[in-house]
Amino acid sequence: MLNFSFTDEQEELRKVLRDFAKSELLPTYMEWDRKGEFPRHLWEKMGELGLTGLRIPTEYGGSDADCITTGIAAEEIGRGNFSMTAAVSSNALIGEILNKHASEEMKKEWLPPFASGEKIIGIAVTEPGSGSDAAGLKTRAERKGDSYIISGEKSGITLATVADAFIIFAKTDPELGARGVSAFLVTADLPGFEAKGYEDMGNVPTGRGSLYLDEVEIPKENLIGEENRGFYQVMNGFDLSRLLLGLQCMGTAKQTLEETVEHVKTRQSFGQPLGKYQGVSFPIAEHYSKIELIRWQSYRGLWLRDNGKPHTTEAAMSKWLGPNAAQEIIHDCLLLNGHYAYTKEMPIEQRLRDVIGIEIGDGTAQIQKLVIARGIFGKEFRP
Ligand SMILES: Cc1cc2nc3c(=O)[nH]c(=O)nc-3n(C[C@H](O)[C@H](O)[C@H](O)COP(=O)(O)OP(=O)(O)OC[C@H]3O[C@@H](n4cnc5c(N)ncnc54)[C@H](O)[C@@H]3O)c2cc1C
Repeated sequence: MLNFSFTDEQEELRKVLRDFAKSELLPTYMEWDRKGEFPRHLWEKMGELGLTGLRIPTEYGGSDADCITTGIAAEEIGRGNFSMTAAVSSNALIGEILNKHASEEMKKEWLPPFASGEKIIGIAVTEPGSGSDAAGLKTRAERKGDSYIISGEKSGITLATVADAFIIFAKTDPELGARGVSAFLVTADLPGFEAKGYEDMGNVPTGRGSLYLDEVEIPKENLIGEENRGFYQVMNGFDLSRLLLGLQCMGTAKQTLEETVEHVKTRQSFGQPLGKYQGVSFPIAEHYSKIELIRWQSYRGLWLRDNGKPHTTEAAMSKWLGPNAAQEIIHDCLLLNGHYAYTKEMPIEQRLRDVIGIEIGDGTAQIQKLVIARGIFGKEFRP
């Protein structure tokens, strides 16, 4: 049986979120970019709507939403403020990791304020010397009595300057490579911990930056899951976030395309509305087609995840196609809106800057294609 319909509750949620995105997020989207400030009150408002705890069970204060519902949230929030989709996609990834692997004590302490949006947690894998080759990380965590002592540097981390805590990946057994990596919860207020923000091209309010850990001491209970298994625990979570990132890119691309359709219906050239010229309507038709294909591909991946079926290849497809198509679509829309869209008076240039970040974050297109190729050829063809 094939069924492409959303449930009544999902359709209702989409409506509520579309209204929220239009009335509360879109009007200030450019303001936070220009100010370079993180709108914490908006994050908390999204928490009140249940968006920061979608993949967290209700007993820990979450919304206990399925993956498809989480995808709807990513897509609709992407229409209003692309940067703030981190509240959905990053929180879904981190919420799942903590819910699956953290100790009961850690879950009781951290999940309720995280799910409500009161506390923010980032995730730190990347380092100056290892990005795509994530397992090549050098940050070290050494056990000393009842503590771990962590030293190293993390780079490119979303929410670096605003999060209250981070899931930090560090080597607990350098001899074992990817099998010797563990995950820890590290709060940003500890001695020896420092965060420094970047001047980014896009997603400016989300305070991306570097984390410096100089012999940061944490209790041994802050280990998440098993020692030396951190890397494998998180990999499955990326299959969710990659599908969500694909959808949030489609949300912002669709919003831009709809605004552009309205523009070309009224703007005249040579005595006719622009929309009458096929040179204008055909790219719009092509982009609508791409958006529909990528959306349904992503929802299918989320359906597979909800139904416990393999979806790593599908997630990698959404992750490279989504942001790649979004930057093409938004670029074309910018041109179809003419010179005014090249100014900072309109949100289109900002959307273009924002989606390009997601062509890199969470793994580049080449890395996704390596994952897809591995699915096609088998592990023995890994380079
Ligand atoms: C907006 C944004 C948000 C981010 N948020 C986070 C975060 O919250 N937490 C976190 O840990 N990290 C985060 N990152 C970092 C991101 O995960 C890394 O930048 C990414 O994995 C790529 O690593 P790199 O930048 O070191 O590039 P490199 O690994 O040096 O790659 C450089 C280029 O070489 C290509 N390349 C590398 N290896 C291969 C290969 N085997 N075959 C073909 N091509 C290859 C890459 O595709 C890329 O084009 C974020 C980055 C951005 C831009």
